[in-house]
Amino acid sequence: MEKNRIDRIETDLTKANQVELWMKREDLVHPVIAGNKWRKLFYNLAAAKEQGKTHLISFGGAYSNHIHAVAAAGPLYQFKTIGIIRGERPAVLNPTLQFVEKQGMRLHFVSRSAYRNKTTLLEQLNLPLATSYILPEGGTNKLAIKGCQAIITSLTEGFDYYCVCCGTGGTMAGMITALANDPARQVIGFSALKGDFLRKEVASLMIDFNGRKYENWKMNGDYHFGGYAKHTMDLIDFMNEFKQTQNIPLDPIYTGKMMYGIFDLIGQGYFPKGAKILAIHTGGLQGLAGFQARFGALLV
Ligand SMILES: *Cc1c(COP(=O)(O)O)cnc(C)c1O
Repeated sequence: MEKNRIDRIETDLTKANQVELWMKREDLVHPVIAGNKWRKLFYNLAAAKEQGKTHLISFGGAYSNHIHAVAAAGPLYQFKTIGIIRGERPAVLNPTLQFVEKQGMRLHFVSRSAYRNKTTLLEQLNLPLATSYILPEGGTNKLAIKGCQAIITSLTEGFDYYCVCCGTGGTMAGMITALANDPARQVIGFSALKGDFLRKEVASLMIDFNGRKYENWKMNGDYHFGGYAKHTMDLIDFMNEFKQTQNIPLDPIYTGKMMYGIFDLIGQGYFPKGAKILAIHTGGLQGLAGFQARFGALLV
C-alpha cells in the first residue's frame, strides 16, 4: 500500500516527442479497495457511520469495480452490504462475484429491464431501507466527487496535463474542481463509453457539486475501442507491452484504453514539447481475473 507514489514512464516515444509522462499509482492507495473506488467511498463511509446506518446498498454489473469496493468495505468498516446486480444469476459466479459473496455481500440479481428503475426496485426487493446508506451505480455522488479531489490535493508537484479515464465522470469532476480553474493545468478525460454524453454529464456533476463552471478540461471520446468493456487485440498487445516494459499492470476497461490514448496522442504531437503529463492509475485490477476467465488468458 502506497499513498502517494508516482512512477516515471519513459519510452522511445516520450523521448522522441520530448514530453514527461508520469503515472500516479492510485491503484495502490488501499490494500483491498483499489484506486478511485476508495476515494469515492471515503466520505460516504464516514457519512453512513454518522447517520447510524448499518447497511450499504449499491448497484452494478457482474464485473463491477464499484460493487467489489462496496463489498470489501463491509467487513473492513463494519457494514452489512447488499449488491443489486444487473442480469440473471449465472450458474457459476465470476471471480468478482465470488469475492463479493465471500465478503458477506447479499446479492440480488435483477433483469435488465427491472434494473433500469432503481427506485421501484428498492421498494420491491424488501430491503432494510431505513438502516441503509444507498450508493448509486458507479459510486458517484457529491461526497464521491469530494473524495476524488484528494487525487489532486495529495500531489506534491504540479503537471500541465492530468489524464483520467471516465465511466460516470465523478472522478474527473473531483480532479477538475480541485484544480480550481488554474489556467496552467488541464484535465483530459478518456471516455470508456461510446457516445458524447459524458462531456455534458461531467459539466452537470460540477454544477451540482458547487454551482461553478470550469474551463480547464476536455473529454476525449476517441479511445473506447468499440464501447464499454469491448476490446481489440491492438489494445491487448499495447497493455502487454506496457506491463512488460513498465512493470505496471493495466485493466482492459479503463486504464489500458486511457494509456493507449495517451501514447497515441503523444505520437500525434498533441502535447507540446516539454509538457509534463500525469496519468492517473485508477485501479480496476480486480477485474483482470474475470476478463481472463471470459476471453482466454490474453493478458500477461
Ligand atoms: C470506476 C472506474 C473508473 C471510472 O470512474 P468514474 O468516476 O465513474 O468516471 C475509472 N477507472 C477505473 C479503474 C474504475 O474502476
